[in-house]
Parts: sequence; C-alpha cells; structure tokens
Amino acid sequence: MSKETARELIEFIEKSPTSFHAAAVMGEMLEDAGFVKLEERDRWELKRGGQYYTVRNGSALIAFTVPKEELAGFRIIASHSDSPSFKIKENPEILADGQYVKLNTEGYGGMLCAPWFDRPLSVAGRIAVKENGRVITKLVNVDRDLLMIPNLAVHMNREANNGYKYNLQKDMLPLLGEASGKGKFLKIIAEAGGVEEGDILGHDLFLYNRQPGTIWGADEEFLSIGRLDDLQCAFASLKGFLAGAKEKYGAVHCVMDNEEVGSETKQGAASTFLFDVLFRIHKALGGDYEDYLRCVADSFMISADNAHAVHPNYEDKADPVNRPYLNKGIVIKYSANQKYCTDGFSAAVFKEICRRAEVPYQTFTNRSDMPGGSTLGNISMAQVSVNAVDIGLPQLAMHSPYETAGVEDTDYFIKAARVFFE
Ligand code: ZN
Repeated sequence: MSKETARELIEFIEKSPTSFHAAAVMGEMLEDAGFVKLEERDRWELKRGGQYYTVRNGSALIAFTVPKEELAGFRIIASHSDSPSFKIKENPEILADGQYVKLNTEGYGGMLCAPWFDRPLSVAGRIAVKENGRVITKLVNVDRDLLMIPNLAVHMNREANNGYKYNLQKDMLPLLGEASGKGKFLKIIAEAGGVEEGDILGHDLFLYNRQPGTIWGADEEFLSIGRLDDLQCAFASLKGFLAGAKEKYGAVHCVMDNEEVGSETKQGAASTFLFDVLFRIHKALGGDYEDYLRCVADSFMISADNAHAVHPNYEDKADPVNRPYLNKGIVIKYSANQKYCTDGFSAAVFKEICRRAEVPYQTFTNRSDMPGGSTLGNISMAQVSVNAVDIGLPQLAMHSPYETAGVEDTDYFIKAARVFFE
C-alpha cells in the first residue's frame, strides 16, 4: 500500500514541475471525482451536498464540500504549491564569450544552490498570449533535457570544497546552447505551448530538475524527488479529502502559492483567498457575516508543510528530545514564538485525530539556539482566525531540487486527513 502511494506521489510531482501545473493536476483529480469548478468572477450558486473548487492565479486552489445539513464549521487542511527554484528573467538570453548562450535567471525562495549543478534541467510555467482580443495564460512544460549549470572545475576553484558562497548572478546561470542557439529560447517555449513566438506577451517560467523520482534504500524505505516540500502534503491532503465522508462539516482542501517568498501575494496565505471562499460559501447558502463568524469559531485548520527529520550526518542540529525520523509518522511542529500555530489545545486535537486514524505522530521543535523556518499557518490567521495546528511529513534536504522522505509517511497523513474530514 505505502509503496503504491509513494509511486503515485512521484507521478503527481513529476506532472507538477511548477505551482501552475500542481493546481492543474489537482483540478483534474477533483473533476474526475465530480467536483464542479467555480470561477471567482461569477456569482456562486451552491447546492447543499455539492462539491466545488476554485483556482486563483492558476497556482492556488481551494476545494470544498457543502454539507447536506446546517454548516457546523469548517475542517481545513492548508498546504502550498510552490518550491524554491530559479525564475527566467525578461530578455533571458546572454551570449558568453561569443560562443555560448546562457539564460539570465533570478532566485525564487531560499534554495540550496549546490545540487542544481551538473544535472539536466528543463523549463516549465505559464505564458501569457493574446487570443481573440484577450490576454489568456497557457501552461508550458518543455519536458526534455534542455539546460545544465556546469560546475567550475576544482582546479580553477581550489576553495570549492571549503564552504563556497554562491553568487546567483555569476554562478547559477544555466547553459542553453552554442552561439547558434541565440534567439531560440522563446521559440522553444512557443513550440511547447503550441503558439507562435510573437504571440508570447509575458511569462512566468521556472527551472526544474529533470531527474526522475526514485524509491531506494536497503528495504526500499526512502523516496527522493524534488518539491516534496510541499507537494507531499498537498497530495496527501487531497487524497484524504477525496476519501473522507465530509458529511457534517464544510471540508476544505486549500493549497496556497508563494509560501517560499513570504505568502504576501493575491494567491498566497496572507491574501484574502481563503476568507473570500469561506465567506462566499455562507453567502451562497443564505447566511450573513454573523453566521460566518459563528462557523469559523467552530472550525479547525491543519497547516501542513513538511518538517525536518534528524539528519544522519548532523545529529546535533536537532532538538535534544523532539527528534523526528523518516517513516515514523506525522510531525507536529511547535514554536514558542508562534512561527507555528500549534498550541497545547490544537496539538491535543491533532493527536486524537492520529489516534482515531491509527497512525503514529512525532514532535518537532527547533533547537533553542536556531531560529528555523516558518510556514503558512500563522500567516493565514490574519485573514481567517481559527484553531490550528502545524504539522508536516518528515524529510531530509529541504529546499534541494532533489529531496528525500520516507515511503510510509504519505499514507499516514492520508489516513489522518480522511478521519479529520469525517
Ligand atoms: Zn514548505
């Protein structure tokens, strides 16, 4: 079962090289399950017992169900669709030494630089084109080995193994081809998007790692692929959401974009997206703001974003006692300074969900002398304030373009999500 789920997760991530693709793939899975797509610009007419989803910016998605009876609160799982990468700049081609064409990129989020070198890369994202007098967007994925960021030989940089500081403008630009490749980049993108080069008016294109996902280890207990943070949680949340009965509460599967750059976009967790959707559900059912507030007071959110497992070569980087490991269960994340929204109450509720789902859980806190990261849970509280817990699945090499997780843990979260939505 868990290996089958691991393979499914790998397939899901391989189809989702960018947040735009992740939203599209989740949209297809929801439509296959009978969900109806709502446009934000339309008036929403909802039926009791109905199942719906909506997408903002093509990169953030909220799916929800309306219970047959009175809405008794929401059960929300929130995760994110984006991962650190490199974004292609405007006028991307740079001629190097008159012999090479390389691409001008800038960093997106806090990536580990070293693992981007010496591996085939490609480009995916969306393009904006004019069609029938309107600007529309289209997904593109070049889907072949197209680029490489070659390392500088150690002979020319004797400091390479002594803690090298990467310069994003100097060190990280990918090689596209020889000088004859000049002028070809946008042609390749146009071809992948099925449009003419001249029709491309704008683009949001990102590099991605071409290395396929793999299941490995002495007992095939590990899996590796890019974007496990946070597509592993988005995938598990959706699978649990689709499997759960969703009868009593408004079930909400929410995947926000731009977590890696602070969430402060119209499609990020700091935006009104979740509030807008929850309020419109009440409005469409004939309720008012008072009904909405009463319902939110009876709601619960699981903020799901991957967690750091103890690293086999850096045992000292973890807290002395709260030490998550791969394949040992869902990680409840705590922070006294509320970088995570977990508190004693919400942790207790989540432990009870795990007990009912018969899945293991573990706990994470940063070492007291390390600041650690943050996530979308507490950011979204500014718009929709509910009881919430921060959890994640344990992983290694977070923010590398090739991350590692346990084969068992995805299933644990699917089971817990299913119980939560019931
Ligand atoms: Zn994350």
